[in-house]
Amino acid sequence: MSTLASSSVPFESTDENTDTQQADTSKLGIASILANVTEAAVVTNLSGKIVGYNRQLNDVVPHIHDAHCITDLFTLSSKSLNTTCLTNIGDTVGRRSGSFPIQLTRIHTGAESQPSIPTFVSMLRAPDTRLPAALLYKLDEHILRFSMRLRQIHIAKKEHARYAKQATLNAITDPLTGLKNRRFVQSFMDLQWHGQFRKGEDSVLILFDIDHFKQINDTHGHPVGDEAIKVFADCLLSQARPTDVVGRWGGEEFIVLLTNCSCEQARVYLERVMTHIRLLKVPCDQGHISMTASAGYCAFSQAKSVEHSFTQADTALYAAKSNGRDRYKKASA
Ligand code: GH3
Ligand code: MG
Ligand code: MG
Repeated sequence: MSTLASSSVPFESTDENTDTQQADTSKLGIASILANVTEAAVVTNLSGKIVGYNRQLNDVVPHIHDAHCITDLFTLSSKSLNTTCLTNIGDTVGRRSGSFPIQLTRIHTGAESQPSIPTFVSMLRAPDTRLPAALLYKLDEHILRFSMRLRQIHIAKKEHARYAKQATLNAITDPLTGLKNRRFVQSFMDLQWHGQFRKGEDSVLILFDIDHFKQINDTHGHPVGDEAIKVFADCLLSQARPTDVVGRWGGEEFIVLLTNCSCEQARVYLERVMTHIRLLKVPCDQGHISMTASAGYCAFSQAKSVEHSFTQADTALYAAKSNGRDRYKKASA
């Protein structure tokens, strides 16, 4: 069948009809019947063997040329015409005249779920004896196209939702570290600032800056510097609570907002995180390098605005640097 499958004319089997129990299909003019059918259509003999199909069927079942029987292509979707099997559907169709509605499901398509295809099946009779000779299946293309379009829309919608989710995530994420970016932290701080008055909760803003980071870049190269930033970011995150926000402010500067937290509790976090930072190991050609960082912090309750709390923490960070680095300092009241 493969040589005729891609042809634009209907395919009619030239095989000898070997089944002596049924009427000969060769006199039916299957090719001309199929040429006059606008829908995708297939003709089988009474045993289900495919004896012809039109080119529209290629669009519906591209693997038609590999099929020998109707059961290679479709199953009956539900009990139709008092049968659950395509191989004996001719018994019922042959007893009456006209077209009978059935629902077919494609097989071997690889798709997760298949829409049923509304199909009309009718008996083709031998012109001389009027004996049942073959079955004509006409697939309702309009409904089929509609359900295929619906399916495409469904897939496109899912894809779009996935892109939108990823785009939203990208917009608030620092690509190097995976931490929240500056934009996100800024808007989160604004929200938290207003929330503190309503909920009566304090928050502590901490600014971190890696010490002598330029030296790391200059001595070991930018890729090692990048790795150091990533390792540092992971450390800050691993020591914070899920309700805290850890972000990259830019370069080797980081911001942490400890929510529902006092300055005393912030000191516990800072002690812990500074100890972990000193133990970090960043791989390089010579083995590994270590690093330290300085931090300045300020409680929201100490400040007049978010901006003010930031300036206070930044001044404290500068003081920590001036006092010898590898330390944290609280903003002066
Ligand atoms: P200090 O202890 O005073 O903070 O000194 P420092 O060397 O850490 O500070 P400085 O501001 O002089 O240098 C920061 C360097 O960080 C300069 C810049 O090239 C580097 N840097 C900024 N962003 C990145 C980055 O994404 N990757 C790498 N590898 N380096 C970066
Ligand atoms: Mg800096
Ligand atoms: Mg620095």
